Amino acid sequence: MRRHIRARWLEMLILLPAVALLGQTQSPVTAIQCGKFFDGRTLALQENVTVLIRGNRISAVGKSVPIPADAKVIDLRQATVMPGLIDCHTHMFLQGIDYDQLLLKKSLQYRAIWATVSARKTLLAGFTTIRDLETEGAWYGDVALRDAINDGLVIGPRMQCATRALSVTGGYSPYGYSPDLTIPKGAQIADGVDGVRKAVREQLANGADLIKIYVDHRRRGMTNPDMLTAWPTFSLDEVRAIVEEAAKVEAKVAAHVYASATAQTAIQAGVASLEHGIYLDDVTFKMMAEKNVYWVPTLMAYLQFMDDPKVSPERRRLMTGTTERHRETFQRALKLPVKIAFGTDLDGQELGWMVKYGMAPLVALRSATSVAAELMGWQDRVGTLEADKLADVVAVKGDPTQDISEMTRVVFVMKDGVVYKDAFHGPSDHHDP
Ligand SMILES: [Zn+2]
Repeated sequence: MRRHIRARWLEMLILLPAVALLGQTQSPVTAIQCGKFFDGRTLALQENVTVLIRGNRISAVGKSVPIPADAKVIDLRQATVMPGLIDCHTHMFLQGIDYDQLLLKKSLQYRAIWATVSARKTLLAGFTTIRDLETEGAWYGDVALRDAINDGLVIGPRMQCATRALSVTGGYSPYGYSPDLTIPKGAQIADGVDGVRKAVREQLANGADLIKIYVDHRRRGMTNPDMLTAWPTFSLDEVRAIVEEAAKVEAKVAAHVYASATAQTAIQAGVASLEHGIYLDDVTFKMMAEKNVYWVPTLMAYLQFMDDPKVSPERRRLMTGTTERHRETFQRALKLPVKIAFGTDLDGQELGWMVKYGMAPLVALRSATSVAAELMGWQDRVGTLEADKLADVVAVKGDPTQDISEMTRVVFVMKDGVVYKDAFHGPSDHHDP
């Protein structure tokens, strides 16, 4: 038996370098012929570009790139080709039912299964990378999902995970239950500089790629009937401690915020992005531009309630006031140098609304490609179609500069060199295990 094991080891030692060598020389080559082409950065569509892919990386992009004889050719000359889309604000574990029901009646196991379905839908809708901004009470489920995708168990986008997110005592839903009961909260509650340091260390130890915090939050019984209002949570010292702990492992901090005053606390403390920012003023946008803080407006997070028949008249009134202010803030920001990164808070029509509110289509697409990649710190691997980037490619049939709704009908999805969807040419490379 012993001898047998030793013999197997020897065999493996001899074989391993040979396999590695074979792997290098035999990476399959794919050539994508593009009709219209957006590189993720340049604000003009190009034509007749070829994208050459070796294995999981792009090896060349251009109009006169020679196609090797052994290359698999994917003909997308009838389509507009662009980098895989990036959503900087998702919740794979927030599953479109009443929030309290989700937290109190669905098991973590059920929610995890549901999240795998959301991840699959997200990828097939053209999002090859996401920044998932907390599990809403599902603990470290996002880390498990990220790892299962990376291991090839289920299909989905490549993920950065914020895990549990942080707020203060009284600063997170669900609200309104008897104080005699212990009700699970949608975020991790931490107070004081020592408390938040420990919580950040805990989240990072359990696999968080970034930290999400609520610097303000709605509280029960404090709601303006015409407008969503939020109240400050963490002190400047607490946010500083959070940013400092995260920075030790080069993790960024994303801050949920509505109001300018709390946004300024977050900016001063050194967060990387502000999420939502419904009421941000020009002074705040100026501070953001100076400190390279990105804005992820998530228009759909509020607009989604406008044509939902289940929404009560009171809530509709609240959302009408809120979405009007959000629109005004967005249109003001378009004239300022602040960087806007794409985030949906759910799947949907975000790009359409950005364009409807006056953002040029290619600027909107840039916010969902190269700008989003910069915010995530992944600009060296995703967000543009150029040599050495990972082969994340999507395509739509029509021209999104003419009709942005084309982006809701993605017909081709490649992630990491693997085709997951190809409406032009039938079955994809990928087969579910
Ligand atoms: Zn969110």
